Amino acid sequence: MFSLKTLQTRKQWSNWAETAQGPFEEFFTPRKVEELQEIVGNAFKEGKRIRVIGASHSFSPIALPEEFCLSLHEMRGLASINKECGEATFWGGTYLYEIGPLLKEHGFALENMGDIQEQTIAGAVSTGTHGTGITLGSISSQVVAWEWIDGRGEYHVHRREGQDDTLANSLHVSLGLLGILVRVTLKVLPLYSLKVKTFRATIEEGIASWKKDLSQFRHLEWFWFPGTNLLQVKQMEAISPVPQKKWEKTVSTISKTVVDNQAFYVLSEICRRNPKRTQWVSEFSAKNIPNRIETGYSYELFATPRKVKFYESEIAIPIEHFLECLEELMEGLKNNPFFVHFPVECRFVKGETGFLNPNHQQNSAFLAFHMYKGMSYEPYFEWIWNVMEKYNGRPHWGKMNNLTKDKIYTLYPKWDSFQAEREKFDPNGTYLNKYFRTLM
Ligand SMILES: Cc1cc2nc3c(=O)[nH]c(=O)nc-3n(C[C@H](O)[C@H](O)[C@H](O)COP(=O)(O)OP(=O)(O)OC[C@H]3O[C@@H](n4cnc5c(N)ncnc54)[C@H](O)[C@@H]3O)c2cc1C
Repeated sequence: MFSLKTLQTRKQWSNWAETAQGPFEEFFTPRKVEELQEIVGNAFKEGKRIRVIGASHSFSPIALPEEFCLSLHEMRGLASINKECGEATFWGGTYLYEIGPLLKEHGFALENMGDIQEQTIAGAVSTGTHGTGITLGSISSQVVAWEWIDGRGEYHVHRREGQDDTLANSLHVSLGLLGILVRVTLKVLPLYSLKVKTFRATIEEGIASWKKDLSQFRHLEWFWFPGTNLLQVKQMEAISPVPQKKWEKTVSTISKTVVDNQAFYVLSEICRRNPKRTQWVSEFSAKNIPNRIETGYSYELFATPRKVKFYESEIAIPIEHFLECLEELMEGLKNNPFFVHFPVECRFVKGETGFLNPNHQQNSAFLAFHMYKGMSYEPYFEWIWNVMEKYNGRPHWGKMNNLTKDKIYTLYPKWDSFQAEREKFDPNGTYLNKYFRTLM
């Protein structure tokens, strides 16, 4: 569990899923840019490596600290807002759940969000955290300017200058490798609400209306239950701003906490103790997909509580291969050989210019695969990675993956350009942890 106090006293870091953990020497929570610069400057002189953590919600070891561990927990909030341009500058440590209410006070909202809001803005931006919507990019695509401290402790600011801006395309998803983001400026939209419809459909029904739904709804998301032909479909439309009604919020909170989390936890425990029950659980969950219609401010509805812990890998493929890939997955998972009861989450995201975006220059389908924490995930993920490789799948950096140096070269045509920027801003590799050293 993420706790600054525990980090301070135990000097031991772990991520949310406990898939990456290890000790470090010193913990820092600077309050000012100058203080942060001094810490980095000292690390540079002493040859110490630094890793900055956000909310530690990445599954891969990208945030794993070794010597200096640093958090921007004390550097949070709205730094400034330019209402005329629709731009808001946030301190890097701001949690996503703080952003919605802060922007609402000024009549604005984020363009899009993912399915939880526990992450920090800098952590989310650094990995290309995304939601769904084929006309929309990830949270990184909402950034118009970055302020950061490089590997020597020097302050930089850069404003995006069009599609071919090499520095902006490197900063776009930078994994904390160009420096520590202290503030980011986001393009924001006038406050809006969402109408969210969730229902069950057969996969045949989903496929028949997929293309139409993709263009008709601002956001479209599928959860396919392995070993079944059933989907939970989520369609979201933007509407004029109205808060969620009190009674609707109460019903929704109970339903999401009790049904989606507590009941799912019990079902997951059944699977862990007796994996042979997994297929039954997958079918049971699919048959009990609730029908829901909700309206409320966008930030109230994008995210849902995720209390049941899991391991996750997520891969982006060119959108034109989505249906073919899904068919292959359905065939391979027909008899549920890997004992998986978590649904496969399918989201659709517009291509982006960021050199390290999994959806770099291609509209993409992101398929996310989950396994209940405590159950064996290796055979499932190995199989998935082999299947997704055929479609030139690029993994989400913040999730479990099988990336190697060679694979990165094949998948990311602009890796060398990113590396050149990284070497400029971090010549001594102050920000490289062991995981990244093996990938460079
Ligand atoms: C339950 C759950 C649900 C999730 N849902 C989604 C989803 O819907 N969509 C999606 O795309 N992803 C999702 N993720 C993944 C998650 O959004 C990313 O891994 C994200 O990076 C985590 O943000 P964080 O603040 O926890 O950063 P961390 O995991 O702590 O760090 C991530 C990276 O950012 C770097 N970093 C952190 N702060 C800074 C900074 N100030 N400056 C520079 N670099 C920094 C770290 O060094 C590290 O490399 C989910 C993860 C979990 C556990």
